[in-house]
Amino acid sequence: MKANLDKCKGCGLCEEVCPLGIITVEGRKVQIGTGCVECKTCLKVCPEGALVPEAPTDQPMCTSCPIMCRIPEGAHGACMRYFNENGQIVRHGRVHTYEEVMDLVGEGAGAGPIGRPLITGIGSGTTYPDFRPSPFIVSGVKDGVDIVTVVTEAPLSYSGVKLKVDTDLHVGEEGKKIYVRRKGKRHIGHLCTEEYGSKILSLGGVNILTSKDGLFAAKVLHEFLQGKKIKVEIEDGTKMELALGKEPEIGGIIEERMRVGCGSATTGLFAPYMFEAADEVIVLDGHITGLFSEHPSGRYLEKPRSPIGLTGQKSTEGRYFLNKGSGWGGTDIVNPLDVVKEIDTGKCFEGMTLLITETTGRKSAFYRWKKDRFIEGPPSPEAVTFLEVLKESCELSRVSAVFAAGVGGSARAGVTKNPIKLTRAVHEGKVNVTVGGARPFIFPGGGINFLVDVEKIKHGSIYLSPTPSFIIPVEYTMTLETFKEIGGHVEAVQPVKEALKKKDKDR
Ligand code: SF4
Ligand code: SF4
Repeated sequence: MKANLDKCKGCGLCEEVCPLGIITVEGRKVQIGTGCVECKTCLKVCPEGALVPEAPTDQPMCTSCPIMCRIPEGAHGACMRYFNENGQIVRHGRVHTYEEVMDLVGEGAGAGPIGRPLITGIGSGTTYPDFRPSPFIVSGVKDGVDIVTVVTEAPLSYSGVKLKVDTDLHVGEEGKKIYVRRKGKRHIGHLCTEEYGSKILSLGGVNILTSKDGLFAAKVLHEFLQGKKIKVEIEDGTKMELALGKEPEIGGIIEERMRVGCGSATTGLFAPYMFEAADEVIVLDGHITGLFSEHPSGRYLEKPRSPIGLTGQKSTEGRYFLNKGSGWGGTDIVNPLDVVKEIDTGKCFEGMTLLITETTGRKSAFYRWKKDRFIEGPPSPEAVTFLEVLKESCELSRVSAVFAAGVGGSARAGVTKNPIKLTRAVHEGKVNVTVGGARPFIFPGGGINFLVDVEKIKHGSIYLSPTPSFIIPVEYTMTLETFKEIGGHVEAVQPVKEALKKKDKDR
């Protein structure tokens, strides 16, 4: 790639997206370093037309994806998988056996002769165009049955990541867009539903990856998949810092604990402790706020009904819906006593106690009635015991993620000449699909759409091609009989031992 410095305004967009990191902008002018593979990623984002492709060179072209990198001697392609070694394009990595990742994926791959792949797609490379056989189609015998595993590193454009962020804190309204700041504000996803004690974020997906922000979004997601912390902003909501497997930081607060249940569930779970803790206990929660003495669990234990009524919409006895917000428990209550809508002061007595807590016990306040009002003070020993039990019952908050994609499209072609037969065989349980050895959840209905826990895929084996698409290892395992029935590329089958010998020769 060449730069036309007269046109360059030094915006740095190209620097942000270059997959090899060889672009720098100094003095508001672009500089292109050595190792350019002519992937044209920079050219796609330059608003000034300041980047000009170089004429084809005699450098060998990688034909493993539509980017068609021309890789200089000793350099990597844009996806960092392929390498020019003495003029030959080689996959820089090696095929992994199932046994090598077994500790990571556990027994999850499944039972029976086709339950586990003979080898994994990790390090296998990609065959492109797709109609040609996958890079490894291997055969072996399991439990006396001839089986075949077909593996590939599938470039999946229609893919994204669903994040589960454990928090009670209100982060924004469902459906709102999610942005990152990368030389401007980039749309990378949206906020989905709240599920139990977690917020679900959808990042990536085909509509975003193919948008003007697609290359930026793909880069951010790939960083996340590699374990890096990403900073996101919810439209009209809060800012979050998220790293896979780590506690989330939300609006500057590190969320340490995931709630044990909603305010009503918490009331039901810990009713015997609440009975002792105070004359009334309110569990403030953005899903359901619980009022102990009115709640069925309090009444079951014959707790005397307190003279306290709550604000919000009453769902059923002792269960209230409050407005969402950045207050306690993901409600809009900032001062905890504001949750009390009414008190029959005639029924209050000197020293009457009230405990208000979030579901995690992260914030709590203890009050005693004095003359005509509740005064905050130190909690009773019974309240302390309850709050300790509550906190200990909460799991640690973390950010988890599933990779969401479909291999129902062209990624089937390396297996068979009759793709619909493969799809049907998958849904009939005749073909076992695994992702880097891990068992995905496959959606019912057409296609091979799946979700897989990204922490079960060996670290560093998801790549990014600047088409943009994520490249993930996929294995299809079946009996030799099924492979023939679905029109598999039988001519390309090699014994697994031969494939592994080749593996050992690879770097
Ligand atoms: S063509 Fe690709 S590798 Fe070359 S400078 Fe542009 S983005 Fe970087
Ligand atoms: S991005 Fe990777 S697979 Fe695609 S052409 Fe470049 S080196 Fe080959």
